[in-house]
Amino acid sequence: MPPREPSGPDDGGRNGPETRPRRVRATVAAMTLVVRDAMVLWDAEGERIGDLTLDDGATEVTEIDATGCVVTPGLINAHHHLLQSGFRTLPGTRGVPMAQWLPTMAAAYSAAGIDPELVAATAAVGVAEGLLCGVTTVADHHLNWPHDASVAATVDIARAIADAARDLGSRLVYVRGSARDDAAWAGASADAIASALVPHGGVTADGMLQVAVGPAGVHSDGEATFAALGEVAAAHGLRRRTQANEQVDVAIALERYGRRPIDLLEEWGWLAPDVTIAHLVDLTAEEVARLAAAGVTGTHAPGCDVPMGWGVARVAELAAAGITMGLGTSGGGSNDAGHLLADARLALQVSGLVGPQLPARDVLAMATRSGALGLGRPDLGLLGSGDLAVWDVAGVADAGVADPVAGLLWAAPGRRPRHVVVGGRVVVRDGVLTTAEESELVARLRELLAARAGLVS
Ligand SMILES: [Zn+2]
Repeated sequence: MPPREPSGPDDGGRNGPETRPRRVRATVAAMTLVVRDAMVLWDAEGERIGDLTLDDGATEVTEIDATGCVVTPGLINAHHHLLQSGFRTLPGTRGVPMAQWLPTMAAAYSAAGIDPELVAATAAVGVAEGLLCGVTTVADHHLNWPHDASVAATVDIARAIADAARDLGSRLVYVRGSARDDAAWAGASADAIASALVPHGGVTADGMLQVAVGPAGVHSDGEATFAALGEVAAAHGLRRRTQANEQVDVAIALERYGRRPIDLLEEWGWLAPDVTIAHLVDLTAEEVARLAAAGVTGTHAPGCDVPMGWGVARVAELAAAGITMGLGTSGGGSNDAGHLLADARLALQVSGLVGPQLPARDVLAMATRSGALGLGRPDLGLLGSGDLAVWDVAGVADAGVADPVAGLLWAAPGRRPRHVVVGGRVVVRDGVLTTAEESELVARLRELLAARAGLVS
């Protein structure tokens, strides 16, 4: 299941020795980074041993020791809801149907009050957790807004999340989502957010911030909202993202429209190469073929789908049909962790229940290159992108591992990287965040939630 490449020259080097220098294409730091003595340098295009130089022409050189380590591209969490990082293990959200989960989460949001201060605190915690777990790009599908918010207030919320990610040195894809929003208001808000935060095409010049649009799904948003957000995407050159075929989505679509979600998305113009759909659990073989023919990409989120009881997406079948599948954690309300490598392990473990066992390298490709392609970001997801995770495999939990790349997933559950680099900048060194004080991020969220709703003592 190699990720499908867009047309371009960057297809060499598979499984062979490196013959061309890899240059940073999405750098933010004016420095040259040298990674020394890696046990394995792996990305979706191949693997080798030795050194890796990310040379952007600067004279200042930073060195990282990768002795006893596997080096991968920074992980791409292609589907998260960062707001939910403040609302994990909420009573009434475990083992319940969606019809109960949704109002329980909504009540907690409104008790806490969604505003720039809260979303900055939840985003900071979620983004920092991701960085400490090797995630260098996170797609935040932001669905929840304060009641009767002005368009300007929604821009302030989006900007607060973007600033939180930038301060921590993480790449962010901010997905202006909606869930039962008024269509015209959602469109005006998405238009204002894109205008305020990104140039045409949806990505800042340094590659650190991207804006996309994304209704939560046909279970929550009607044709008018899909149309309004689609128009904004077309006007600004943004990617479109949504969720479909969690079981609940199918049930509601059948009840409300007498149709299945894929039929509706097709009719509403949302089966296209610029669209990525998360979950995709309950699909027929015919729907898989239709998604592939339309050029849609997907995001697998087993760390949400399994605990919510939705089932296991047939990833091997989707990929065999030609659908590029990324990997996402989804949010803290369903998956209480933002640890993408843990979910890559889960994806391996459950894959055999619904088809052939996925190879570890295929799942690593999902968590890196394929996620980048689904975001429309061919500049990301490879070692040469300048985003790296350095995984120490020298401890007892990896002793006896015959294949250290496969062992990244199969062995040492909960593994965290020793070092993490974004755009040539070291943001985690020796397991410690370099861009913020972790304890301060925790304290800020804890105090905020306690002050507002008494949710945390
Ligand atoms: Zn989700």
